[in-house]
Amino acid sequence: MTRSIRPLVAGNWKMNGLRAELAIAAEVAKGYAPELKNKVDLAICPPASLLFMTSAALIGTRIATGGQDCSIQEAGAFTGEISAAMLADAGASYAIVGHSERRTLHGETNAIVKEKAQASQKALLVPIVCVGETKDEREAGRALAIVRKQLRGSVPDGATAATLVIAYEPVWAIGTGLTPTPQDVAEMHEAIRAELGKLLGKSVAAGVRLLYGGSVKPSNAAELMNVAHVDGALVGGASLKAEDFLAIAKACA
Ligand code: PEP
Repeated sequence: MTRSIRPLVAGNWKMNGLRAELAIAAEVAKGYAPELKNKVDLAICPPASLLFMTSAALIGTRIATGGQDCSIQEAGAFTGEISAAMLADAGASYAIVGHSERRTLHGETNAIVKEKAQASQKALLVPIVCVGETKDEREAGRALAIVRKQLRGSVPDGATAATLVIAYEPVWAIGTGLTPTPQDVAEMHEAIRAELGKLLGKSVAAGVRLLYGGSVKPSNAAELMNVAHVDGALVGGASLKAEDFLAIAKACA
């Protein structure tokens, strides 16, 4: 497959990983051979406690790091929060915002996700804005409408291909082993590109990286990554095994 957009494969470690798991990042770096480096960008989003050490361990490897969330605030009395500037200071280049676990478990609305994306951009991080429908919404035939609405509500105004990544993650596919059909992914990614065209202009939208996420693993990566308008993956569980993460990256090359 000839790609016009350089793909990105980002690993979301979620709340997994102690210092011993830095070995996973080192192993990914070891396997990021020149032929892969030439074709695919990689990012690892460890828990905040490991962000600085992961970033330091990956210096010189061209593997980026990212935070899994950030505050809408810049600084101050917000116990437990982490600002986008803090993520950047710890070496991050990306921030995942609006992950379905944040939307569901922490009540994050599209407006909050947009503020987080803007806060990320202000700190010169690239937000990976997550969108996706629930099982009920898909079964009710509302998947496209829901995702379009999430995009309208969460994408920062004036974003460019260099300052925005979108991850389509059907909620029902995250951590379940279930995946949409390639046809469903194709339909959704085409709709996302079209909606971004309305929001940001067609030429900007044409260059924005659209990741697919939700139970991506080595066995299904080739099928999912070769769908039109899929420019990489956001990988949860499989990113905790260097070999699997690299195999998914290779499927994008
Ligand atoms: C995720 O949480 O972003 C994700 C895609 O998880 P998994 O790959 O485990 O489904």
